[in-house]
This record gives sequence, C-alpha cells and structure tokens, in this order.
Amino acid sequence: MAAADEFAIVGGGIGGLALALGLARAGRNVRVYEQAPRLREIGAGISLSPNAVKGLRYLGVGERLEALADEPPTQLTRHYANGKVLVNIKRAKTREQLGAPYLQAHRADLHGLLRAELSSLRPKSLLLNKELTTVAQDAGGSYALGFADGSVAAADLLVGADGLKSAVRREVFAEPAPEFSGFVAWRGLATRAELGAGQSRPGSMVFVAPGRMFVRYPVRHGALQNFVAFSRAAAWTAEGWSQTGRVDTVREIFSDFHDDARVVLRAFAGRRCHKWGLFARQPLPRWVQGRAAVLGDAAHPMLPWFGQGAATAIEDAVILCRALVEFKDAGEALRRYENARRERVNVIHAESLSGGDRLMRQDPDELARNPVVTEDTLGLSRYDPATEPI
Ligand SMILES: Cc1cc2nc3c(=O)[nH]c(=O)nc-3n(C[C@H](O)[C@H](O)[C@H](O)COP(=O)(O)OP(=O)(O)OC[C@H]3O[C@@H](n4cnc5c(N)ncnc54)[C@H](O)[C@@H]3O)c2cc1C
Repeated sequence: MAAADEFAIVGGGIGGLALALGLARAGRNVRVYEQAPRLREIGAGISLSPNAVKGLRYLGVGERLEALADEPPTQLTRHYANGKVLVNIKRAKTREQLGAPYLQAHRADLHGLLRAELSSLRPKSLLLNKELTTVAQDAGGSYALGFADGSVAAADLLVGADGLKSAVRREVFAEPAPEFSGFVAWRGLATRAELGAGQSRPGSMVFVAPGRMFVRYPVRHGALQNFVAFSRAAAWTAEGWSQTGRVDTVREIFSDFHDDARVVLRAFAGRRCHKWGLFARQPLPRWVQGRAAVLGDAAHPMLPWFGQGAATAIEDAVILCRALVEFKDAGEALRRYENARRERVNVIHAESLSGGDRLMRQDPDELARNPVVTEDTLGLSRYDPATEPI
C-alpha cells in the first residue's frame, strides 16, 4: 500500500485533536471533521494519569498543560457515611517514580490547548458542522466521506475518533452498538464562592458506598470544584447518552453521604447538571480495515473507574501518529498501530469493567483491609506512548 497524503480524522474530541496535532507537527496534511457547530468541551474535570501526561508531552503541550492543571498531593478513598480514610495514595513521588505527574484539569482547558496548538500549526484543519453519515471506498482504496450537510470529502486515510457511537465504526467495521452498564453519572463544577469558605482543599476524594460513589477534586487551582456522582440505574431510556439532571435528585440519592461530599451538591441546590448513561462495549476485534482505523472511544469505550478513557485515546493518538510518521506504507503503519495497542487496551478495558464492583463493595471497610487495585498497582501509569516500541 502506498503512502497516504490526505489524512481525514472524524471527531474533534480529545483523541481526534491529539492525533491531528501530532500529524500537523510532523508536517502532514490533516483535516478534522467535527459534527458540532461550535467546539466546546463539557463543563467537567478530567484526571490525567502519568501515561496520558507523557503522551501530551510528546504532542508538545506538556508544559502548558502543567501550568493549567492541578497536581493532587493525595488521593483519598473515604467511607461514604463516616468519612474514614480507607486508602491514601500520596502523589509526592509520582513524577519522579513514573516519569510524569498525575494531573487534574478542566476538560475545556485540555481541549482548548490541543485546539489552539493545532490551529496555530494548520489554521484551516478543523472543520465544524460536519457530521459524517456515509463512507465509501473506491477501487484505488481512497475514501469518499459523506456529511449530513450534503457535502463530500476525499481522503487517502481515514481515522474514526468519533466516540462511543462512532459513525466510522458503523460504516467501516459494522459492529453492534454499545451496551448500558447499569450506572449513571452526574457531573458539575462549583465555583469557590458557591462552595463556601475553606472547602477548596487540594487533593481528590472518592467516597464509596455499595453501588454508589462520589468523586470531588479542585480544578483551575481551586477556582472550581469538580464533582462526579455515580449510582446504579435500572435502564437508560434517553435518546443520547448525555442529558441534564436535577441536582436535587442527586442530593436525595446521596443524602446519607458524609458532609464533605454533600457540601459540593449543596452548592448546586435547585440547579441542573450533566447526566450520563455509562456505556461500554467489547473493544473491536480489529481496529484497522484497509486504510481506515479507529481510536479512543470509537475503538474501545470503557467504564471510567480507572480514569483511562481519555488517557488511552491520547496513547492511541500518539502511537498511531508515530506509526504513520515512521512507516511510509500506510497499511504497514496501521497494522503496527493495531498490534502495539490492542493487548494493552484489552487489559485496561477488562479491569475497568470489574473496577466498579471492586470499589463499590458491600462493605467499604474492606478497601482498607485488602490491597486496593489502582491504575498504578496495575502498572498502567508507567507506559510511555512516546517510547513504546511499535
Ligand atoms: C463520567 C465520566 C468521567 C470520565 N473521567 C475520565 C477521566 O477522569 N480521565 C480519562 O482519561 N477519561 C475519563 N472519562 C472517559 C473520557 O471522557 C472518554 O474516554 C474520552 O472523552 C474519549 O475521547 P474520544 O476523543 O475518543 O471521544 P469523544 O470525547 O467522545 O469525542 C468524539 C468527538 O466526535 C464527534 N463526533 C461524533 N460522531 C460524529 C460524526 N458522525 N461526525 C463527526 N463528528 C462526530 C463528537 O461530537 C466528539 O467531538 C470519563 C468518562 C465519563 C463518562
């Protein structure tokens, strides 16, 4: 297979922008087709484990990210009712031991950083209002991409970075839809003033109860407090996987939680916040077909218990970018990408499926008695997509 000249990436989320930025830095002709009329990341925080930070350093945004993000000194897992600390992960030596810090940031800041860097290198590479609907391949192997606005674009190489309900996956790989996991998540950000005096402490806290979990951590150096509240739900009936929910409903569900959790929800009283159905599906058996590939949630949507969804999308992007730069033959590059990534992602995916049951046990005190499984104990954070053999 010959080298590709026109790279089309469908989806301008974290994974798609990361790949576009890497390819743009390498001087490749790249276009990102994003369905949204305006690019905006949701108002929520994101944890970036050292493996993700190493990927972002490779893309040249490491220093600016560190300036925007927070480095939690501790990650506490606490009993939901009495607040007792069950696990205390100290992060003071993470940077030195794992080669990069563990960071927490506003998703919009990370997304904005990738976007700004991409447009400074390739000003017209990001096209909005381009919802991919069809993909056709001609006899020569090139793709014709059809969009909802009636326009068509050509590409030598196609990458689906279009998330959980990927149209590229549907069109090129014909795989079944993701399945509801039985969990919903509510997310929001409270300002320092809304939260009240003395509440913007550094470090993250996770409160665990059987079938429920509440996570809080500061972003933007304490100006905002991020929360994610997880709870079991019988079904997800909404059209999409994201909608809004009433915070007062969340307050009722978490009314028996420690005040350090409830205080964040009180700051939102009477308002609405984002509500997600959590979906997962088995990773695709093949991530590559002809000159098309998928990455991130399009390839392997996973449950968020280890905070590795965006991290693995960034890793995918860096490895795929390196393969496309190092191997002239497009088919060879895509095969290298798939081989380098599948095994690691399958392990993380499987751990993420069982991680919820381990965290939200019948008796939270068990977490203090038995060694806890984290992304660090699994060795996930040691990975460096910039140096991993491909
Ligand atoms: C509650 C919760 C908390 C999480 N916390 C973390 C965390 O702390 N750390 C972490 O690493 N991960 C976390 N994740 C996972 C993470 O959010 C995802 O894995 C990550 O966003 C995947 O990135 P992506 O670029 O693959 O897909 P997405 O972010 O879904 O981006 C896909 C893009 O494609 C566009 N698109 C979709 N369809 C089309 C189409 N047909 N045509 C054109 N464009 C299209 C979309 O508009 C979107 O911009 C969390 C997830 C949840 C639900």
